[in-house]
Amino acid sequence: MTIARRPDAVQLHPIAEESLDVLIIGAGISGIGAAYYLQKELPQKSFAIVEPRGALGGTWDLFRYPGSRSDSDLYTFGYEFKPWKSDKAIANAQSILNYLQDTARPYGVDRKIRYHHKVLNASWSSEGARWTVKIERADSGVRKIVSCRWNFCASGYCDYEDGFSPRFEGAETFRGTIVHPQKWPEGLDYAGRNVVIIGSGATAVTLAPAMAETAAHVALLQRTHSCVMSVPSQDRLANFLKRMLSEERAHALIRRKNAARQYGFWKFCRTFPRTARRLIRAATRKQLPAGYPVDIHQPTVRPLGSASLRRPGRRPLQGAAGGAGLHRHQQDRPFRGRWRTARLGSDAAGPAPRMSAMASLFLNALPSVASGPRLDS
Ligand SMILES: Cc1cc2nc3c(=O)[nH]c(=O)nc-3n(C[C@H](O)[C@H](O)[C@H](O)COP(=O)(O)OP(=O)(O)OC[C@H]3O[C@@H](n4cnc5c(N)ncnc54)[C@H](O)[C@@H]3O)c2cc1C
Repeated sequence: MTIARRPDAVQLHPIAEESLDVLIIGAGISGIGAAYYLQKELPQKSFAIVEPRGALGGTWDLFRYPGSRSDSDLYTFGYEFKPWKSDKAIANAQSILNYLQDTARPYGVDRKIRYHHKVLNASWSSEGARWTVKIERADSGVRKIVSCRWNFCASGYCDYEDGFSPRFEGAETFRGTIVHPQKWPEGLDYAGRNVVIIGSGATAVTLAPAMAETAAHVALLQRTHSCVMSVPSQDRLANFLKRMLSEERAHALIRRKNAARQYGFWKFCRTFPRTARRLIRAATRKQLPAGYPVDIHQPTVRPLGSASLRRPGRRPLQGAAGGAGLHRHQQDRPFRGRWRTARLGSDAAGPAPRMSAMASLFLNALPSVASGPRLDS
């Protein structure tokens, strides 16, 4: 793994060396989970977690936009060893962050985290069978080298410093506010404003109903339709099992149930995509007002392909607006980044948008990977 080095970083201090069995990069849900299992299964191994930010939680600490939440249920998204206690199976970012903190603390994982430590690069030596990892302290610029036998890269898949922002021609002269959900300004007041959300992925689908609560008008500008299915945020069977069984047994059972259900539904969609599409359409239609033109928003992608989303609540996206207007606009041709396209569409008539939220997240795929020699040898 090589991470670009800041060209202007000044080396003020001598490079210190440290030797560990394992270095876990990143204190998000993956890094914390890895640390838990590592100290449980191989308690004799030395390890540390390095994290450039001043807090654990990764995604769930970083994204602060309105409505930020999971779209997986927390029984399967959470850890097997740590029961999810809330009644809401699909949870908001703060509840997930609390869950991660409540996991890291009692198991002592938090004491293994070295905050403000950013990995700059890592190189493998076959002769020594070790990784050499260069780390910089984000607060002081001090650098050190950690040598380890196993390098567990749990650094997520997004660029924490700069989420991807496409260039929109004319954005410089746009009179409103442009916001990226990864850097949501604290206390941003959009009440009574006209909003265009660019993108139709999970972030956009989460953001739109939350902003529609107070905005004057919210338009969701999409290039490609995604499959959006409404699911209840509370799992009634799960809540029943939690009342009947111990926390651990209920969690294990619900986790299996949900994993089997997800797998079954995925398999069904892959095997019978047309039937799945018809079922999703029928379910959506049932939730919309009579005569709503459902088909103009029908996705062309396969259900449960790369562009399928779930949102909690019984009401479909269109109906989630409360008193405010919430509309989806389709742009059929590839989006060429002309800013004014955000105002196309009959529903967008009226004053020019004064504020826009940009929900286009194109994330680099860098899966969490573990590599190196066998540790138990
Ligand atoms: C709003 C939102 C909702 C989501 N909902 C879901 C969902 O419902 N289900 C699902 O499966 N996925 C969801 N995802 C994807 C989600 O990010 C992952 O599933 C999961 O949280 C990733 O956890 P992680 O620990 O692998 O990475 P992250 O949470 O991204 O954590 C990575 C950590 O690595 C650190 N790091 C990065 N670079 C370095 C470096 N150079 N040196 C040291 N440390 C570094 C970061 O600071 C961070 O703390 C969602 C994402 C977003 C943004």
